[in-house]
This record gives sequence, C-alpha cells and structure tokens, in this order.
Amino acid sequence: MAVLEILTYPDTRLSDPALPVTDFNRSLVQLVVDLQETMLVGPGAVGIAAPQVGVAQRVAIVDVSPVLEGDRNRKPKSSRNGRLVLINPEIVERDGEVTGREGCLSVPDYTGNVLRADAIRVQASNELGESREYHCHGFESRAIQHEIDHLDGKLFLDRVMSPRELFRRKAYK
Ligand SMILES: [Zn+2]
Repeated sequence: MAVLEILTYPDTRLSDPALPVTDFNRSLVQLVVDLQETMLVGPGAVGIAAPQVGVAQRVAIVDVSPVLEGDRNRKPKSSRNGRLVLINPEIVERDGEVTGREGCLSVPDYTGNVLRADAIRVQASNELGESREYHCHGFESRAIQHEIDHLDGKLFLDRVMSPRELFRRKAYK
C-alpha cells in the first residue's frame, strides 16, 4: 500500500484522456487500494481518479459518505451508495441541472461553481471486473461527474463559467 503523489494544475498529464482498463489483474486491485489511501490523505476529499496520480487509466473512486454524515442539513437530498469503485464508468442517463461548489486535490488553491447534471445513472465495473449500475443524485452525482471529467482530461476549472465563479482558498480542507 502506498500514498501516491498527487499531480496538480497545470501539470499537462492531467489533460491527457485516460485509456480504458482491459486487464482486471492484481495491479489494478493494488491501484484501487493506493488511490483509496491517497484520497484519505486529502482532508474532505470525496473522490480521486487515476490520472491525478499519473496513471492514465479509467479508474476512479468516489465516497461522499464522510462528508454527508457530517453535513446532513446542507445536502439532504444526496444519494449515498458508499464507496464506489468506478472502472471504465459511463454515464448512461442524466436528469436536471444544478450549480454547486467544487474543489479538487489537483487544484489546491481554488474552489469553483460548476453546472452539473443533478441525477445520473452510471454504469461501471468494480476492480474485480463485475459490472455495476448506480443511480446517483445531488452531491454524489456531482462527485462522480467530477471524477469522470478527470478520466477525460478535464478539470473543474475547464467548466467554471467565469472568473467570478472561482474562489481562492487559504488551505485545503
Ligand atoms: Zn478533482
């Protein structure tokens, strides 16, 4: 197990589209473990994608439960599927649009307001190669869309509509 180094903007590797996973082998399982460990080092982080640690594969983890548990009032309508391992994820349905604040381990100095689909249906494999489908809405849906963007070489900075929607922060939390 290892905590991996997080690439930060403007590292160009964050802009490279990631390749689909074809081999569900031990090194993939290890990558998921390492991503999980690395995510937990970032306070309040709810997701991480392999390109953020320099691995150009379509692998991401999302787990919004710690944030939702500490924040029931602000995000009451979010689904909570627990820890999601998303390998080769595809959004197959979107419903509604909502603007919300996002942060990113790879953009430590800023948060920004981004428009996302409110509800999504997403299909993905887990690290064992088993196909899964999840219905997600609210904060969980936003987190998944943010991570899939990483797999496509996009940061939330690319989706912020104007500089006024970008906010400097003093410390990552
Ligand atoms: Zn991010």
